[in-house]
Amino acid sequence: MGNVPSAVKHCLSYQQLLREHLWIGDSVAGALDSAQESSQLSGLPEYVKIVEVGPRDGLQNEKVIVPTDIKIEFINRLSQTGLSVIEVTSFVSSKWVPQMADHTEVMKGINQYPGVRYPVLTPNLQGFHRAVAAGATEISVFGAASESFSKKNINCSIEESMGKFEEVVKSARHMNIPIRGYVSCALGCPYEGSITPQKVTEVSKRLYGMGCYEVSLGDTIGVGTPGSMKRMLESVMKEIPPGALAVHCHDTYGQALANILTALQMGINVVDSAVSGLGGCPYAKGASGNVATEDLIYMLNGLGLNTGVDLYKVMEAGDFICKAVHKNTNSKVAQASFSAQQW
Ligand SMILES: [Zn+2]
Repeated sequence: MGNVPSAVKHCLSYQQLLREHLWIGDSVAGALDSAQESSQLSGLPEYVKIVEVGPRDGLQNEKVIVPTDIKIEFINRLSQTGLSVIEVTSFVSSKWVPQMADHTEVMKGINQYPGVRYPVLTPNLQGFHRAVAAGATEISVFGAASESFSKKNINCSIEESMGKFEEVVKSARHMNIPIRGYVSCALGCPYEGSITPQKVTEVSKRLYGMGCYEVSLGDTIGVGTPGSMKRMLESVMKEIPPGALAVHCHDTYGQALANILTALQMGINVVDSAVSGLGGCPYAKGASGNVATEDLIYMLNGLGLNTGVDLYKVMEAGDFICKAVHKNTNSKVAQASFSAQQW
């Protein structure tokens, strides 16, 4: 490479780096050599289930109203990536969330692929019945560990919200419909500041106790650190087994992947994420989106953990939706990969 300019040399060595490492490859589980294997972190699960929340949590917080056919195409693309759970929409009043006004059309319009589950958010009994009529076979309820956030976000106190969820859960269980519970503000609240692990535990226990098969602990405003994640999980795991818990991290302070790694080491193996890091939180100023699915998969691939998801296909789905909402991806992996392709 005697006369090759240094910038080109850099590009070539970067390309070589990509070729030699498996982190972007389809499936790396079992592909690591013994030296790499022995350097893996301890306490990690072999398989991590990714719950893709981009079409609901992500798009809900995007300002541009996305046309229904684009949403359907987006979800159909995600269904072909190997993801096993894709949260599709929210059966909430269009007065509150205009982006989700087409929930019925989206639910009815998507192709439901075998082996993929398509939960929808249902804030109350009315939403639940609409969801079932549209063909939903799995639902989620969305609570908060912060009293002020609950009032601003879902317009009722924590206690009142639990009453509504109990009605929904009762009806859902009667129809053998699985229910997932969310606890938002698990690591901090935009109004109250820090939230005690005890409060998160109390709300999580209520949701689990009423019949949610999984409780997703959300750092809605992305202020948590591995330290606060560890303290919160230690408290919640005294009441709920790790197999019934998930984490949902936003990346506002750049801590999402570190927080997720901490949770994985503590026995959690379900992680929520949104392709391209879509989303934010309208009630929490400056809160950036969910952790990007691409970045999460890249990290898990590098750790040799199996997700069953094809990172290339997820990046393509991310590129599709970013063009539709006229924004740049928030995924560092997609940014790096797409710019590398242009070299
Ligand atoms: Zn979120």
